[in-house]
Amino acid sequence: VIEAFDYAGSPARVVFGAGALARTAEMVEALGCARALVLSTPQQQADAAALAERLGPLAAGIFAEAAMHTPVAVTERALDAMRAAGADCTVALGGGSTTGLGKAIAYRLDTPQIAIPTTYAGSEATPILGQTEGGVKTTLKSPRVLPEIVIYDPALTLGLPAGMTVTSALNALAHAAEALYAKDRNPVSTLMAAEGVRAFVEALPVLAEAPRDLPARTRALYGAWLCGTVLGTVGMALHHKLCHTLGGSFDLPHAETHAIVLPHAVAYNEAAVPEALAPIARALGTQRAGTGLHAFARRIGAPTALRDLGLAEADLDRAADLATRNPYWNPRPVTREGVRALLDAAWRGDPPAA
Ligand code: NAD
Repeated sequence: VIEAFDYAGSPARVVFGAGALARTAEMVEALGCARALVLSTPQQQADAAALAERLGPLAAGIFAEAAMHTPVAVTERALDAMRAAGADCTVALGGGSTTGLGKAIAYRLDTPQIAIPTTYAGSEATPILGQTEGGVKTTLKSPRVLPEIVIYDPALTLGLPAGMTVTSALNALAHAAEALYAKDRNPVSTLMAAEGVRAFVEALPVLAEAPRDLPARTRALYGAWLCGTVLGTVGMALHHKLCHTLGGSFDLPHAETHAIVLPHAVAYNEAAVPEALAPIARALGTQRAGTGLHAFARRIGAPTALRDLGLAEADLDRAADLATRNPYWNPRPVTREGVRALLDAAWRGDPPAA
């Protein structure tokens, strides 16, 4: 049965393939721009400088101060750099933190953006911007922050460290998992989510052995595009809520937290909507999606216990309170006891209750 649905495709242009970075100058011109400010984190400054060099006169300079959770103070310094350089667009080279800075600039100046992701976080495909100021994180949704062009070049991910590869991939898989049961899902988001899961399930065991395998890196980045796209089109539920609580109130790292919570959130919801999550079990070749994901995460060397991220057992009660304080849609009713038990298993690193 095909239920009634509402579908709006992303207006962004996507340029995908090994070597696509070489097309950045052509993309700046395609935007009708002539002076791009290249953004990165301090850790990726050398790559940003090399890209600026390659852009020649189309580069207005680089700003290499992007940081986790898009601090407003950093954005303000970037706005000064935009004005000082006379920049008319941004090119964000990096993970979700760098993409976030490009979005924060676009939100304020309405300048066009090119995102060149080097992780699997998926922010480049969403109209969502999270920012922090005075220790408070706020999230907004606006078509203005969606990058106009995304360049996916798998060659840029060859050196993504092993730990970041698996946690970032599980972060992406979490978008797909929640898209599969989203209240506002549609046949296209479901196809993309299932294909994204398959791409990562094929690529990750190869990358665990051979991190520089270009076909596997290509498959993983293809999965990241699909998973990011569904994050940008349909609503998320329990899993993302839990991760935002743990990241926002306990300062746990983004990708690792997603990686650890995912099997547990999926198992919790699988009890209510097993058929929606069947594409994950099928891709993994397991009976169940939640326990299958837990075994898969172990196999590829992902972290599995929140206690290893420094969360104290004494914080679990407050985390459960915070995550259940404001009601939100989820395919299975969210109860305080249910969430507390879920967090307990995720804290210990136990497999989820089947
Ligand atoms: P990140 O961007 O913070 O990157 C982590 C570190 O890895 C940085 O030092 C970065 O420079 C480095 N790095 C990135 N790619 C690399 C590569 N290929 N090789 C070597 N080092 C590399 O991490 P992330 O997980 O991509 O992004 C997390 C942030 O993105 C969070 O702030 C999260 O809230 C945000 N996010 C937002 C959305 C959204 O839709 N708004 C979606 C997903 C994530």
